Amino acid sequence: MVAAEPAAAGGLLQVQLPAPRARRGNVPRPPPVHREPRPRPGDRRGRPARAPRRGPPRRLRHRPCPPAAAPRPHPGRGARRLGAGAVGRAAGDDRHQSPGAGGPDDRRGRRVIALAAPPGWRGGPGAAPLDGRLPDPPHAAGRSRPAHRREDLAAPHPQLHVAVQSLSPKGEPAVALTDEARNAIADEAWGVAEKIKPSAASLDANRAYPGDHLDALAGAGLAGLLIPPEHGGKGGELTSLALACEAVGWADGSTGLVHLLPLCGSATIGAKATPEQAEAWLVPAASGDSLATLAFSERATGAHFYMPEIKAERSDGGYVLNGKKSFVTSGGHADLYPVLVNASGGEGLDVLVIQGNDEGVSFTGAWEGIGMTGNSSIEMVLDGVQIPADRIVGAEGDGQELVFNVVAPTFLIGLAAVNVGIAQAALDDTIQHVKTRKNAGGVLAELPTVQTEIAEMTIAVEEARALVMTAARAADAGDPAALPLVMQSKIGATETAIDVTGRAMEACGGLAYSKRLDIERYWRDGRAGSVMAPTNEVLKQWVGKLQTGLPLF
Ligand SMILES: Cc1cc2nc3c(=O)[nH]c(=O)nc-3n(C[C@H](O)[C@H](O)[C@H](O)COP(=O)(O)OP(=O)(O)OC[C@H]3O[C@@H](n4cnc5c(N)ncnc54)[C@H](O)[C@@H]3O)c2cc1C
Repeated sequence: MVAAEPAAAGGLLQVQLPAPRARRGNVPRPPPVHREPRPRPGDRRGRPARAPRRGPPRRLRHRPCPPAAAPRPHPGRGARRLGAGAVGRAAGDDRHQSPGAGGPDDRRGRRVIALAAPPGWRGGPGAAPLDGRLPDPPHAAGRSRPAHRREDLAAPHPQLHVAVQSLSPKGEPAVALTDEARNAIADEAWGVAEKIKPSAASLDANRAYPGDHLDALAGAGLAGLLIPPEHGGKGGELTSLALACEAVGWADGSTGLVHLLPLCGSATIGAKATPEQAEAWLVPAASGDSLATLAFSERATGAHFYMPEIKAERSDGGYVLNGKKSFVTSGGHADLYPVLVNASGGEGLDVLVIQGNDEGVSFTGAWEGIGMTGNSSIEMVLDGVQIPADRIVGAEGDGQELVFNVVAPTFLIGLAAVNVGIAQAALDDTIQHVKTRKNAGGVLAELPTVQTEIAEMTIAVEEARALVMTAARAADAGDPAALPLVMQSKIGATETAIDVTGRAMEACGGLAYSKRLDIERYWRDGRAGSVMAPTNEVLKQWVGKLQTGLPLF
């Protein structure tokens, strides 16, 4: 029986996993893995390890993303920023107004309508206006908050910044970004998003890996979003991650997922990197010269990726790994693969960094998912892969802390935000379509049923966004309520993506079921999030247990 204490001292979540199945003594080694050399896609197969890049000029690994002829300005872009700027816009500040906006359907300048959150929700009434704008920082004067939040957040608190701390490579508290800095990141992300969106459909049709898109994001510094400035990154945290991931997900779901995994990978490494590891891995990852991902899932453990069966054997002062990791996003394209294994011979978890060109590493299969097609979530085969001891992240046994304090919040918030972006894209396209699609002498938008559909889609997207941003801010502040909020945000946003893209299908009709609109792509892309681990089924049980004080496992 295992206890879970939200935001116990030193971490967002302290969880003791159940003991893995006994593997000592007479348990045979896994059978030899079929070694199947397979050409690695693109130019990444068999290249010698590159030395970390130092100084400009930055070399893009793919052709630059061609600028869109006429990118459609995102109508809601202004609302996806933070704090005073958003309030300023509501009062008429048009610094970020998209060209051509201003018509009757312009979303900017609308009234802020704060809806009451469900009773008992720790984000609480008054804490989160469900309109996509963020609540003021906790210390903002004159802000009415429920007592339990005011008490937790008004004064310096030993648990503040635990989530930020866990993203700091030196384990020291990082300085949270100002809203101005976060807004700058959001603007950069939306700038790239508007450029890459026009090529999303052709990438999907060709099931092509979005290398150009990754380069465009790296060019804006977004490959290093979660890497500290001293290693070339932006020093971002969960709030800025949410802002950026929504923009990328809005542009292209596949790119949103493929961009998120390297952010999670670099945050995992960065949480406990030695100076040598930071120089070798984080600096090139921040510039986009190296790509990280996460190789945690295994077929045998499925949704329970935090209970890997692969056990690294100690050998020659290092480790030898045998086994298979499944669903490895950017498999064959990435350079760094943090794998979750048991390396300490005990019951703990460990994160070891495999390099794509290590002897014994190969990739099998092809990504055949119905959505997120611009991707390569394939199987990674580890056949006697020998790595030195200095490839471990942190100390032996630190894997559990990394999984629950770094990977979980980063992945859950990032994936939730990508799904808000997918849902927003479906809403935008639906609005566009129903305004022009002729119907019995008028247009679809004049039908009351369509109007209702649009209203419900809009509310769903705004609610999901508010939940994600509230969870991100709470985690960044070390709020004890952050843990269930982070879980809820992934559940809420991924279910919103399924719901809203389905409603878009209904509103746009037969054309949406064809390739003539992008709705069917959003519908396919939006289906992935709920089954990605921790799956929504599992997360709901965790949230229910946390809310009722039951042990998590
Ligand atoms: C597009 C995509 C990209 C991915 N990328 C990566 C990646 O980069 N790295 C990585 O490590 N993994 C990745 N994954 C894997 C992912 O995180 C999950 O591990 C995987 O989707 C789990 O699927 P499964 O079918 O093996 O789960 P199964 O374990 O077979 O589960 C099937 C169903 O049973 C439910 N279920 C299982 N156990 C319970 C339980 N105890 N209670 C209630 N319900 C339960 C699950 O919720 C699920 O609905 C990716 C998956 C997808 C779809």
